[in-house]
Amino acid sequence: MQHETVIVLDFGGQYNQLIARRVRENNVYCEIYSYKTDLSVIKAKNPKGIIFTGGPNSVYLEDSPTIDPEIFNWGVPVLGICYGSQLMMHLLGGHVCRAPEREYGKTEVFVDTNSKMFTDVQPSTICWMSHNDYIEQAAPGFKITAHTVNCPVAAAENAEKGLYAVQFHPEVLHTAEGKKMLRNFVYNVCGCTGDWKMDSFVENNVKALRERIGDGKVLCALSGGVDSSVLAAMLAKAIGKQLTCVFVDHGLLRKNEKEEVCSVFGPGNANGFDINFICVDARERYFAKLAGVTEPERKRKIIGEEFIRVFEEQAKKIGKVDFLAQGTIYPDVVESGLGGESTVIKSHHNVGGLPDTVDFKELVEPLRNLFKDEVRQAGRELGLPEYLVSRQPFPGPGLGIRIIGEVTPEKVAIVQDADAIWREEIAKAGLDKEISQYYAALTNMHSVGVMGDERTYDYAVALRAVTTTDFMTAESYNMPWDVLGTVTSRIVNEVKHVNRVFYDCTGKPPATIELE
Ligand code: GLN
Repeated sequence: MQHETVIVLDFGGQYNQLIARRVRENNVYCEIYSYKTDLSVIKAKNPKGIIFTGGPNSVYLEDSPTIDPEIFNWGVPVLGICYGSQLMMHLLGGHVCRAPEREYGKTEVFVDTNSKMFTDVQPSTICWMSHNDYIEQAAPGFKITAHTVNCPVAAAENAEKGLYAVQFHPEVLHTAEGKKMLRNFVYNVCGCTGDWKMDSFVENNVKALRERIGDGKVLCALSGGVDSSVLAAMLAKAIGKQLTCVFVDHGLLRKNEKEEVCSVFGPGNANGFDINFICVDARERYFAKLAGVTEPERKRKIIGEEFIRVFEEQAKKIGKVDFLAQGTIYPDVVESGLGGESTVIKSHHNVGGLPDTVDFKELVEPLRNLFKDEVRQAGRELGLPEYLVSRQPFPGPGLGIRIIGEVTPEKVAIVQDADAIWREEIAKAGLDKEISQYYAALTNMHSVGVMGDERTYDYAVALRAVTTTDFMTAESYNMPWDVLGTVTSRIVNEVKHVNRVFYDCTGKPPATIELE
């Protein structure tokens, strides 16, 4: 089924994915492409609207990203945001130059509420600005529809041609009515009706998977994370017993994680998933490989490689399969440089490097077009329990990189218990939805303590909690002292061999979210 599509053309802005997410939150499908994409490709998508992102360059300098102005004559509405707005004005005969006063942060903007973009928006509204250049003069045929104290053209439009420009960023949450503005653009200007919904996504894709796979066999590596769980659930629904899921217990899972995954996908599960489910107990071989290893990169490598070995052995037992299922999601696609303009951040491999030796014909990646929030929503539609779909990100190497120094079964047990207490108390305090990621780790440090009049010489646990929108940068969460107090006393009382608890106050940068 062809959905109404809005295209985001990326000029190197930081928020390209955010724009697409906001559009999709309004139930309109949205894809990101580099501004360099051949315009015939964009046109062939038959877009209902196009959005130009911001970007670090200045439109009046040579070599800055630009676009064939022919795009403005397609009769397809275009919204330019920040750099995108400046580019639109520049190409159509307006004047953009360095602003006498740069604007950064929350700014009061006065808008013309007669504009289709600003229907139901307050005449004075707080928007988020980040620019050094400004539109000194709008292009001929454009009407100025917003200004600020320092910025004569904070928004302009040529409604007849469907061209809209905003200097501020409607996609960031600091723009109080940004979501409404984007909604106005996609509904009032582009005429979308909102046909992008997760219930129909699941239904259509289950059907499409059934058709594509026919009576073929599919192999899926299940990690217990959100993406692979939703992937497995979708395939289970589509093809049942033709699916084999391999779940590797490497001994570095969170407390009860294995039991949770087995109860959802294993034999006799309550979800009606009738699949071949293989749970491999690889704990011993992992601990053997990791014995004596302390260097973080080396640890990561061993854990990743061993995963592939175990997975391959299982695959060999199954023999030839027709498809290998992967839980690739849209940010992976964008970040591997396939959509958008952002430089390659990481080339993406789902299960830590695909085993080349697994014998299969084709890949199936049914979540390839979804953002994380949408994957979670799809999971709910598929009936997965909330603790699985709302699970926070968990690194591939598992607890292995949350234990500084050598990994041993005893240390794993300590982190598992401390982490379970930390998660439980954060949920109890009602903070779990507010914090992006939180976990307990084991420092490799012993220190002296006293317990029941006796000297102890035990481990220190480190607690971490961060907020972030994109995991590229993060801030340490301002954790209430009473929550920290409760958790600390529970950990030292309930977890053996811990006599000290630290809270990590460092942001990213300079620290990373994980410890190793
Ligand atoms: N580089 C342009 C400016 O400074 C656009 C900035 C942006 O898109 N955020 O005005």
